[in-house]
Amino acid sequence: MSKAGKSEAVERPVNFIRNIIDEDLAKHKYESVRTRFPPEPNGYLHIGHAKSICLNFGIAEDYDGACNLRFDDTNPAKEDLEYVDSIQQDVCWLGFKWPGEPCYSSNYFDQFYAYAVELIEKGLAYVCFLNAEETREYRGNLKEPGKDSPYRDTSVEENLALFEKMRSGEFKEGECVLRAKIDMASSFMCMRDPTLYRVRFAHHHQTGDKWCIYPMYDFAHCLSDGIEGVTHSLCTLEFQDNRRLYDWVLDNLNDFQKPDRPFQYEFSRLNLEYTVMSKRKLHQLVDDKLVEGWNDPRMPTISGMRRRGYTPASIRDFAERIGISKVDSMTEMGILEAAVRDDLNKVAPRSMAVIDPIKVVIENYQDEPQTLMAPVHPQNETMGKREIFFGRELYIDRADFTEVAPNGKYMRLALDKEVRLRNAYVIKGLRADYDADGNVTTVYCSYDPDTHGKNPADGRKVKGVIHFVEASHALPAEFRLYDRLFTVENPAKEEDFESVLNPESLVVKYGFVEPGLLNSAAEQAYQFEREGYFCRDNQCGDKQVYNRTVALRDTWSSR
Ligand code: ATP
Ligand code: MG
Repeated sequence: MSKAGKSEAVERPVNFIRNIIDEDLAKHKYESVRTRFPPEPNGYLHIGHAKSICLNFGIAEDYDGACNLRFDDTNPAKEDLEYVDSIQQDVCWLGFKWPGEPCYSSNYFDQFYAYAVELIEKGLAYVCFLNAEETREYRGNLKEPGKDSPYRDTSVEENLALFEKMRSGEFKEGECVLRAKIDMASSFMCMRDPTLYRVRFAHHHQTGDKWCIYPMYDFAHCLSDGIEGVTHSLCTLEFQDNRRLYDWVLDNLNDFQKPDRPFQYEFSRLNLEYTVMSKRKLHQLVDDKLVEGWNDPRMPTISGMRRRGYTPASIRDFAERIGISKVDSMTEMGILEAAVRDDLNKVAPRSMAVIDPIKVVIENYQDEPQTLMAPVHPQNETMGKREIFFGRELYIDRADFTEVAPNGKYMRLALDKEVRLRNAYVIKGLRADYDADGNVTTVYCSYDPDTHGKNPADGRKVKGVIHFVEASHALPAEFRLYDRLFTVENPAKEEDFESVLNPESLVVKYGFVEPGLLNSAAEQAYQFEREGYFCRDNQCGDKQVYNRTVALRDTWSSR
């Protein structure tokens, strides 16, 4: 196998696309590899786009090639600069670089126009005045061939004049289109004289009011690839049929009569359980205010996942775990979560947070609070130590106390039972106070001063460790506990996908964190011991708000 670029010692993914590239390079079909990631700037990027980004930019990295970021901005009506900005931010955040400035399909509008003229001159395109309904009727269907448009045999000269008129704004929207002259009986519907250009009197975010005709995706895409010198144009399976049109356009233009023109290859798109991936549906969730915005941590968007605490490394690792194939499938949420858990387990500092607090009073501790040292990461000494506090008043989690310990192994605090406080002492439950509804408010305990960092001297066994925060130093904090956004595996299949939203996808709790988190950075990840991986919210400024990225263990497979 011949692979250009980095050392062979690095383990690289193997897939059918990389096999094709290896063969192409071995045959010297191309000097170097150029891919592109071509988002339409009409929404925020999601985890499905991340699959495509990791594939395209990953190949460019591994083969010492380049991957263009290209805005596929041929549809002015739905596009916006907000999306252009967010897309660049997301690709950079994932850790990828494109050469120079981002590309825009709209940069090539003049060239597209000239190529359309070349097709007209070759008798391969014509201006058609059938209205939408007639066009549909003439197209036929999968069982019946279509009929030729009455405008199909207009002379080249007349077509050139008509196309020029389209460009100069002499026709209304919908009055006419430019069509390729291919084959109205083709078994591929996309080859039945597809539209190449339509009239749209719309302001474009890059070209302003210069144009009132805009090229269709199938025409603009292959030409953009050709103009940019793309070698392998990688797209998702729904464009499989359109490959015929991709090839037809390039094969009929003089500039692309060369063996190293781009070729299109298709792979299966990512579908992820319990979420939706279509931009239309994601738009709807935002517009209907069912989520806080595109960056709501429950959204499958890159900005949402980033805010939730996913790291670039975890998303890249996820893309590698799912791989690239031509098989359509539904990917388990557990794979995504395992990827982020594995990364955060390595890199996230440990800390203690009490999410549903009850108070503990240590009756035999009268002094001022004392400072204790705890490891930042139990498996990685180089991350150092952190200061924590112990004192007369503490908070523990409500779930870690019960009055009467059930039989057998009970590993938490109960009356007349001992438990260890993580990083501190052994305590014993003495009695508890309750509110009018019978909920515990305070547990009174004693502590054994001779148990910090060691077992009780008399050899008695203490089962269980619970976490805590010393009350006088604790920082009040808000915890946002996120769960899957939908209650069914494939919400896109539902007639009304909004009706299967999970009403408990966000549960907010108020508790306490260690004082050391006062100035924690936005998006900084922590493992709150025994609770899960969290990160400081990136939209809440100085407020102590933590988003749960993922629980410590996979709780999905057991549901
Ligand atoms: P949607 O159907 O949600 O509107 P799209 O395909 O129109 O998405 P684009 O902005 O055109 O969105 O996508 C840019 C690139 O990302 C395309 O090459 C597309 O194939 C790829 N892509 C989009 N969704 C997925 C997905 N779920 N899995 C893999 N690649 C995807
Ligand atoms: Mg698209």
